[in-house]
Amino acid sequence: MENVVIFDSPGKGRGLKATKEFWAGDVIFSEPSLAAVVFDSLAERICHSCFRRQEKLQRCGQCKFAHYCDRTCQRAGWAEHKQECSAIKAYGKVPNENIRLVARIMWRLDKEGSLVSDMQLTTLDELEDHLNDMQDDDLKELKVDIHNFLDYWPRTSKQHTIDDISHIFGVINCNGFSVSDQRGLQTVGVGLFPNLCLVNHDCWPNCTVILNHGRIELRPLGKIAEGEELTVAYVDYINVSEERQRLLKTQYFFDCTCEHCTNKTHDDLKMGGQEVEGVKPSDEQVKEATDYCFDMMNKMDKARLNGDYHEVVKICRKCIDKTEPILADTHIYLLRMWSTMSEVQAYLQYFEEAANYARKMVEGYMKLYHPNNAALGMAAMRAGVTHWQAGLIEVGHGMICKAYAILMVTHGPTHPITKDLEAMRMQTEMELRMFKQNEYVYHSMREAALKNKPMTMLHEPKSVEEGIKNLFHRRK
Ligand SMILES: [Zn+2]
Ligand SMILES: [Zn+2]
Ligand SMILES: [Zn+2]
Repeated sequence: MENVVIFDSPGKGRGLKATKEFWAGDVIFSEPSLAAVVFDSLAERICHSCFRRQEKLQRCGQCKFAHYCDRTCQRAGWAEHKQECSAIKAYGKVPNENIRLVARIMWRLDKEGSLVSDMQLTTLDELEDHLNDMQDDDLKELKVDIHNFLDYWPRTSKQHTIDDISHIFGVINCNGFSVSDQRGLQTVGVGLFPNLCLVNHDCWPNCTVILNHGRIELRPLGKIAEGEELTVAYVDYINVSEERQRLLKTQYFFDCTCEHCTNKTHDDLKMGGQEVEGVKPSDEQVKEATDYCFDMMNKMDKARLNGDYHEVVKICRKCIDKTEPILADTHIYLLRMWSTMSEVQAYLQYFEEAANYARKMVEGYMKLYHPNNAALGMAAMRAGVTHWQAGLIEVGHGMICKAYAILMVTHGPTHPITKDLEAMRMQTEMELRMFKQNEYVYHSMREAALKNKPMTMLHEPKSVEEGIKNLFHRRK
């Protein structure tokens, strides 16, 4: 590993720094998982080898638990599944995802030693487990997991001390990385990537991490100088600094003292009021509107969980009408309302209204996020598609180009989403040209295209903020 080196980061413990200069679009390193498992809840819907979502999967004839796309995936996953397969058969049931992950890690290390490749910068022994920082409830759960692990772990496998086993459970508790499906739209499992565990957090980081064809890639968001520490964001920057610090403390056990937390950068925009012709609403008015938005968000989430999308629209509309004149166009609750409204209205095929709210959402995000933030790129992509669906081809094409530029940095040219975007970019470019030549021809062609739905994203709106918000997976 020649691009990075481990060093002592002041106040943070071990960290990674660059040994040469990097630019947006580079890959600093890529790394396969040491081990990864599919979530319990998705065990029958996601391939246990390539983590793709498939309509029809084939079940392992032995344990009847593991599922695969086909023989090729089953063969590719056999080395990781072999011992698990007989352990599940002997145990008579399937242990939970944490236990399955710890077992897979231990079988791998027992077989290959503590460094499974010369690319691996750290052993697991050297990683933090934060067992001493864990809350009582979490500790109780950990004890149950360890108890079940001992029942599950075969007598014929190498035996380990309780301390060693606890350590691995602790490591995956704070370092287990959320593994997403091939398009990065849904988290489907959890895995361990040892080098990534060395990258410290910053709320305004200089890198982003993306899963691409089963490997994680660490990518710079802009220019990084030789010797600079490499950082990623463990939590979504959309939260205000106090909330980010709370999340980081409870989930990752440290106090964030990054520049953006110290200066409370953007907090005023995220919770502020709207200035109209030089007049600002009073603090009380802003607080009242914020509290109202918060209540409505809870109601909206409930309706969304019940799949009652017309009710969701009703709640959002009422809330937006009341608070839009008071709250800043970067207020994070208002952004949540606009985002939900655009997603649900697009699903219900009210494309023009959906496009309007999607545009407000992207414009708000642009004032808050780093220009190369992946969440901004994904939002621009969604807004671009919605505009295209609404027949607003000029804005739609512009947004898709914007999304494409961001994802070329955050995801790279080979990622499936970037490839989707590339196709959309070419199609909307062609349509835009047609639109400028002859609007009538364009509109009739668009009608036909909509019927064939070549680039629809009419998947059901996600359940309550299911998007990938935390870098590392948190057990529920
Ligand atoms: Zn597969
Ligand atoms: Zn099996
Ligand atoms: Zn911070």
